[in-house]
Amino acid sequence: MTRAIYPGSFDPFHFGHMDIARRAAGLFDELLVTVFDAPAKRLLFSTEERIELAREALKDVQNISIVSYSGLTVKWAQRHGARVIVRGIRNVDDLSFESRIDMANRQMAPQIETCYLLCSPKYVYLSSTILKEVASLDGDVSYWVTPHTEQALQQRFAERKR
Ligand code: ADP
Repeated sequence: MTRAIYPGSFDPFHFGHMDIARRAAGLFDELLVTVFDAPAKRLLFSTEERIELAREALKDVQNISIVSYSGLTVKWAQRHGARVIVRGIRNVDDLSFESRIDMANRQMAPQIETCYLLCSPKYVYLSSTILKEVASLDGDVSYWVTPHTEQALQQRFAERKR
């Protein structure tokens, strides 16, 4: 049985992430979408909120679970019996960034492989940053997130404007 993890900040989980998660779930027996609790980014949603939004978006996929994680991704993967890390690639910048992480990970945990899935052309420009920028300006984000996440974004930005 091959367990894979799909780590990220997922602040929040969008259709680009969803595409990668669903495709990876078709390749491995079990996929854990692992939500990093303390990324070096300013977060809009708490860890619990990010988990809930990803869970809702993937609730129909049997072999996917969503959990939080902390610390080094490879160490967490080792401790939880995962042999594969899944990452999405949008462009050459992602590839260059990911290849450096890959080399460091390989040094620390050579038995763990990272599997890169090229993003769907539909979402190649999509990032959580762009998504939050548009939502903060009351733009329509329904092409990029589930209605549940759209509502959460609207609510969070409305709270911030109060
Ligand atoms: P990070 O993990 O760098 O904090 P994210 O949480 O946004 O960033 O992304 C998690 C994973 O999803 C990464 O592998 C990232 O490359 C991938 N990803 C981000 N946006 C997209 C997209 N539009 N399409 C496919 N994959 C994406």
